[in-house]
Amino acid sequence: MKFIDLKKQYMKLENEINANIQTVLEHEKFIMGPEVLELEKALAEYTGRKYAYTCSSGTDALVIPLMAYELMETDAVFVPSFTFFASAESINLAGGTPVFVDVTDDFLMDCNDLENKIQRTLDEGKLVPKGIIAVSLFGQICDFDAITKIAKKYNLFVLEDAAQSMGAGRFDRKSGSFGDVSATSFFPAKPLGCYGDGGAIFTDDDELAEKIKSIRVHGQGNGRYDNVRIGVNGRMDTLQAAVLLPKLKILDEEIKMRQNVAKTYTEQLQEYFVTPKILNGNESAWAQYTLLAENEEQRNQIVEKMKESDIPIMVYYATPLHMQTAYAYLGYKPTDVENAYRLSKRVFSIPMYPYLEMEDILKICNLLKNIVKE
Ligand SMILES: *Cc1c(COP(=O)(O)O)cnc(C)c1O
Repeated sequence: MKFIDLKKQYMKLENEINANIQTVLEHEKFIMGPEVLELEKALAEYTGRKYAYTCSSGTDALVIPLMAYELMETDAVFVPSFTFFASAESINLAGGTPVFVDVTDDFLMDCNDLENKIQRTLDEGKLVPKGIIAVSLFGQICDFDAITKIAKKYNLFVLEDAAQSMGAGRFDRKSGSFGDVSATSFFPAKPLGCYGDGGAIFTDDDELAEKIKSIRVHGQGNGRYDNVRIGVNGRMDTLQAAVLLPKLKILDEEIKMRQNVAKTYTEQLQEYFVTPKILNGNESAWAQYTLLAENEEQRNQIVEKMKESDIPIMVYYATPLHMQTAYAYLGYKPTDVENAYRLSKRVFSIPMYPYLEMEDILKICNLLKNIVKE
């Protein structure tokens, strides 16, 4: 069994994807071709944002707006410790310093701890609070009302890391529309994935949009060889845009299919494990279906035993960011970000994609139940 089966989606869209790729091969506008502009227009419409800019990866989608904020090493950006490395790495790449915030049991930023960490940073006086990266982890959008309130109080920017949440909804809004600016990834395994690396940046802010557009292409000013700031080569390939266009059209339908998979998982497994907590008003994109085992020993046993039955189990994430070697220089102790540390010992994610069949879902559930019963 596969953890994520991309082939089934390709079989459904094969004709359109092949035709789109063929069109690009014929027009030869491999960089910033018409498909890129078409996709940006469709993405802006889909998210309800004024501006959508495609770029080369989800990581660049975070780095580019952070570069626009012109961070210094003494600038603090608050980010959850329980997330993929790029959420924090992007802060360093843009010149700032991450401050790690805890998460609650829904894997999303703990707003009480966020405010504590901001206060502590102000009290210590070494770093200046500048922004917040709120990660909509595993496909679920954060409580942006609460986050925005804190951001306003301390005059901080809010960047939504929507790498795992394209297609997700919160009340009447889509992921990609929250905060001052949002970043997503089109890495193949994400809810909306291309066939390589890709990403997109969303904002309603005219001034920020200008800077993002410029930084994406070497800090371009007026015309191609006028450079007004330091930027990156962060464009998306036209071929990837051509692949994404038909996939975006079926995203909502696929999110519904993921909901059905998640619903069965929860019904089957809620007596045996801690199942995902979904906030009121949220429709998760179910990038991952993540359970909590009783403890680390049981979690590791599950990974091993399921492997014997050819069922891949992934551990997102076994090491919270405050414990990563790369961040040893910040001097965190494991319990400094306590819940992130505890969750990292217990989490495991089971296969999740729209085309997962009932027979396989039940097989996975039954094997998991048997491990607990033993
Ligand atoms: C995947 C991911 C990224 C980075 O995206 P890439 O396209 O792999 O660079 C950033 N943040 C989160 C939460 C992610 O899951």
